[in-house]
Amino acid sequence: MRNEIVIVGAGESGIGAALLAKKLDQTVYVTDAGLIKEKYKEELINNKIDFEESGHDFDRLQNAKLAIVSPGIPDSAKPIQVLMANGVEIISEIEYGYRNTNATIIAITGSNGKTTTTGLIYHILRDAEYDVAVGGNYGIAMCRVLAERQPNYFVLELSSFQLEKVDTFKADIAIILNITPDHLDRYEYNMDLYVEAKMNIVNNQTKENTIIYNGDDKNIQNNLNNRILPSTRRIQISTKDYITGLVSSDTDLVFQTQLKGIHNLFNARCAIAASRQIGLTEIQIASGLATFTNMAHRMESITVIKGVQYINDSKATNVDAVFYALDAMTTPVIWIAGGADKGNDYNQIEQLVKKKVKVLICLTAYPEPLTTAFGNVLDEIVITENVDEAIKIAAHYAEDGDTVLLSPACASFDLFNNYMDRGEQFRISVLNQLRVSKSGS
Ligand code: ADP
Repeated sequence: MRNEIVIVGAGESGIGAALLAKKLDQTVYVTDAGLIKEKYKEELINNKIDFEESGHDFDRLQNAKLAIVSPGIPDSAKPIQVLMANGVEIISEIEYGYRNTNATIIAITGSNGKTTTTGLIYHILRDAEYDVAVGGNYGIAMCRVLAERQPNYFVLELSSFQLEKVDTFKADIAIILNITPDHLDRYEYNMDLYVEAKMNIVNNQTKENTIIYNGDDKNIQNNLNNRILPSTRRIQISTKDYITGLVSSDTDLVFQTQLKGIHNLFNARCAIAASRQIGLTEIQIASGLATFTNMAHRMESITVIKGVQYINDSKATNVDAVFYALDAMTTPVIWIAGGADKGNDYNQIEQLVKKKVKVLICLTAYPEPLTTAFGNVLDEIVITENVDEAIKIAAHYAEDGDTVLLSPACASFDLFNNYMDRGEQFRISVLNQLRVSKSGS
């Protein structure tokens, strides 16, 4: 008899799904090809959830009634092949969460800006005392939240991986920020497949639902035009809607935000549109907007040393994010970049680099793509694999009024554990530099 739910992959989403299944009194077990992290293993044991690690029992797997598969696992993986061959229904953790909640869903996807926009909408709703939860790609699994409580509103950050294997999932409000090349290795280097995965966010929407999208993004527009969609409410946000600032429909009100850069005005504009759809007043929106501070590693001001501003934008792991970081700079820039390059095309930022960057510091084991792209554009390029060294070099070149910007355009795995580790090491090193400069003055 098929009576078990199998969860393949014991990361945050897998454990979240297991906790929810347990809460719903389902028979569930978790299987992972590798070792399960201690903290997750403890949770499984404490909640009396059966699990196996370092390999799969394929006989048990193929007799499951439902499989919930982690977003990181591709279809080519052996357990997925076995599940498919045996006709087991395979869904994602997001789909499982969706099937087990009545919350109004505000779902956000895009290549850049997801976390910022998700955090902002969550903050605005919470500030207005709505019963709201946040999760998904935002660090905490949707199902983990639902195992704890059922909120009225759920703000959900969704990566393209999480939008694979959704079936009945429907967003009441879907926000599509932008679709630029990223993670193409997962999509056979085919941009169309990547776009298609992201656009799953509008699947199943009906005329009561809303799509908020980037009106300047051709990938999104073409895809929407080619879809037969019921007459969902469509709200386009284009440059003209925020280039001169964020305007409230209440003429007595001024929308203010602590976020920096034109890209963040766009993100904020999307958040405002979503909040209005939900029914918040302009005053409620203004209040949340003004008090929101972004998460670390996204255009984060660390400190000022001798008139030089240090900014940590370690989360800028692709060229588009760097474009907006440089675009936001109003001073000469010492730019720290580089890392594990995903096949970047630097043409998009060549003019900006020419205009704004004084010195490029390549903080990476693989400087060639950067030195090749900017060798003829910049007079000074310095290479190092050491963060402290990078900060010393930056401090050496920087003059009063300049900005030192860490905005790498690359993943961090050549020298760091992840982008957070890179950003933390940058912060520590900058603060050390501050101490040195204070003790010297
Ligand atoms: P995500 O969750 O999609 O990775 P984040 O909000 O964490 O997005 O931001 C990642 C990087 O992208 C940061 O460097 C940030 O400054 C930049 N960014 C944020 N919003 C946008 C946007 N709308 N367009 C381009 N870059 C953006």
